[in-house]
Amino acid sequence: MLNIVLFGPPGAGKGTQAAKLLEKFNLVHLSTGDIFRSNIKDATELGILAKSYMDKGQLVPDALTIDMLQSEADKHPHANGYIFDGFPRTHPQAQALDDFLATKNTGITMMLALEVNEEELKNRLTERAKVSGRSDDADPKIIQKRIEVYNAETMPVKSYYQAQNKYKGVNGVGSVDVIFSALCTEISK
Ligand code: ADP
Repeated sequence: MLNIVLFGPPGAGKGTQAAKLLEKFNLVHLSTGDIFRSNIKDATELGILAKSYMDKGQLVPDALTIDMLQSEADKHPHANGYIFDGFPRTHPQAQALDDFLATKNTGITMMLALEVNEEELKNRLTERAKVSGRSDDADPKIIQKRIEVYNAETMPVKSYYQAQNKYKGVNGVGSVDVIFSALCTEISK
């Protein structure tokens, strides 16, 4: 299996690149942000709870996120591989993902990270707010909070994969196609 963790701060372009990667490599896309948003839209119990954290720019608690991710992954037992997008975002999530994949006799192949500076991120999220309808993009204070949470809680996940020699960083500033081919080069190395 080809199991990729797509990593990067809010606004790095994970969703855009994930869409291209899953088509090329025939993978299942598991985006925790998308799954939460679909639950919010359907007003499920999970959605209502998740929204209370997302609207503040905070992370949804690990136990909830991990359970949800595992049940989504289990819906695709014959997958060629997965792209994990927006997950894992904490050290316990990374550990849980390894344990979960081990029960399926597989593991993470690599973490692909989109590296984008903070100034560029804020500009992109502000632009995205105009079209996404996402309340967490609309408020500069919430954007700032998400970047802070990323730096404090999510950045350490990079060292988790570096310690396993699985971290690969790619410049996330440039055209979508150039970034995509840089990611493909890393996958085929
Ligand atoms: P972005 O990367 O642009 O912030 P996402 O769609 O990945 O957007 O996430 C939106 C929000 O959903 C996050 O700010 C957080 O509240 C919640 N979320 C998504 N994935 C996770 C996760 N793995 N753990 C906890 N919360 C998450």
